[in-house]
Amino acid sequence: MTRILIKNATIYEKNKPLQADILVEEGIISKIEPNLNLKANKIKVDKTIDATGLTALPGMIDLHVHCREPGATHKEDFLTASHAAVAGGITTFFDMPNNSPTTSTIATLEEKRQLAKKAVMNYGFNFGVVKIAQNIVSNDVKADKKQNNKSSKKNKETKSADKQVTKQSKLKIDEQYNLEEAKESQKYKCVKAIKVYLGQTTGNLMIDDLKVLEHLFLTTKIVMLHIEDDNLEEVLELFSNYCKKNTASKTALYICHVNSKKMVELIKRYKKQKHIEERLFCEVTPHHLFLNNEDAKMLGRLAYVKPIILTKDDQKALWRALEDGTIDVVATDHAPHTLEEKNNPDITKVPAGMPGLETALPLLLNAVHEGQLAIGDVIRLYSTAPAKLFRLKKKGRLKEGFDADIVLVQQKLKKRIINDNLLTKCKWNAFSNRELFGVPVYTLVNGNLVYVYDKFTDKKTLHDVKGKEVE
Ligand SMILES: [Zn+2]
Repeated sequence: MTRILIKNATIYEKNKPLQADILVEEGIISKIEPNLNLKANKIKVDKTIDATGLTALPGMIDLHVHCREPGATHKEDFLTASHAAVAGGITTFFDMPNNSPTTSTIATLEEKRQLAKKAVMNYGFNFGVVKIAQNIVSNDVKADKKQNNKSSKKNKETKSADKQVTKQSKLKIDEQYNLEEAKESQKYKCVKAIKVYLGQTTGNLMIDDLKVLEHLFLTTKIVMLHIEDDNLEEVLELFSNYCKKNTASKTALYICHVNSKKMVELIKRYKKQKHIEERLFCEVTPHHLFLNNEDAKMLGRLAYVKPIILTKDDQKALWRALEDGTIDVVATDHAPHTLEEKNNPDITKVPAGMPGLETALPLLLNAVHEGQLAIGDVIRLYSTAPAKLFRLKKKGRLKEGFDADIVLVQQKLKKRIINDNLLTKCKWNAFSNRELFGVPVYTLVNGNLVYVYDKFTDKKTLHDVKGKEVE
């Protein structure tokens, strides 16, 4: 049995610091108590980590990561993404389906499960919905419907046209989209959510028919939505109606990367509806929290992301939404591209997205240092809430009996972000050259010491211990 003792760490119970020892046995936190007396308990440990001056946090859980494998391993792969993650104090992440080929069939999911085995941390997957056939009928009916809506006198006809739309779309929707496979994917424990791209985005994952959502609400645990401002109200209305009609359903709607005041205000309004409570969630990325359009201007193409980085006013609204609980989760949307790709002279060819795994937790800890957040908020937003939302058992808290996914951070240590020192394959970061207070020093995954940072030599040591697929 492998035993590790973490000696004299600072842990937080509801923002209150206390000193404690943490005993890790066979991948599980077996004891947390001050001055743990090993001799009296006749316990021998294989390794002791002196955590004096370090804060122990439950490992961070990132629900939104693009590992780029298969299809774009020149940007990143499961091994390099997991290295970057553990260096950033993240012990579990969920990979997105927009690969080449897309993770939208059971076969591609199985292929990805094999590829992900090289990750040194815990991982799961979000499954994609794609259009597999053209919907000629539905488009015709849509055009008819538009025509009908023009005349208010034609109310009756509009209603019957609506019925027609529902009927025809229902008949067609299964054939047009991979909904059968999406349903099948929900049987896998490693698949926690279905990712839907609504509106402008790249590739064949784009969905323009809201009927797909209605269908998914009935068959899916969590629908993760990439959506921009314009359609949000319509979608929230649709979800609200679904929740009203299906009170027993536990399906959750999760809005990815909110970026605007308008978005968070809309979500806040809908979250207040009784029947939607605890079923509507949203995520913010570090780049939308810590950058605004003035920073983006300086960064140029590097700051090009979807949805785009908006004004100071929007940025402030995101921080207010963090405080009032409208925003539930922080996730990176780690989307690496090479510098060459980002600096493409043809601006129309610059891909959207930036890497984020290594800097998310340091940015949040720096915000704690500056008094913008409490340490308890960081734990809640980036570990406890994601674990609860994705129903990850024994994760997201430092608690006896929980998985020993632990990050030890030095909150008072300041470190500059330097491109060359990054572990992501793309080797750049929008926050490079910033100095941040809060450095992950040790990362344990399933009780194994996977990452160690030596502040004196600036050396990062990675141990090749394999992670696990989430259950
Ligand atoms: Zn994304």
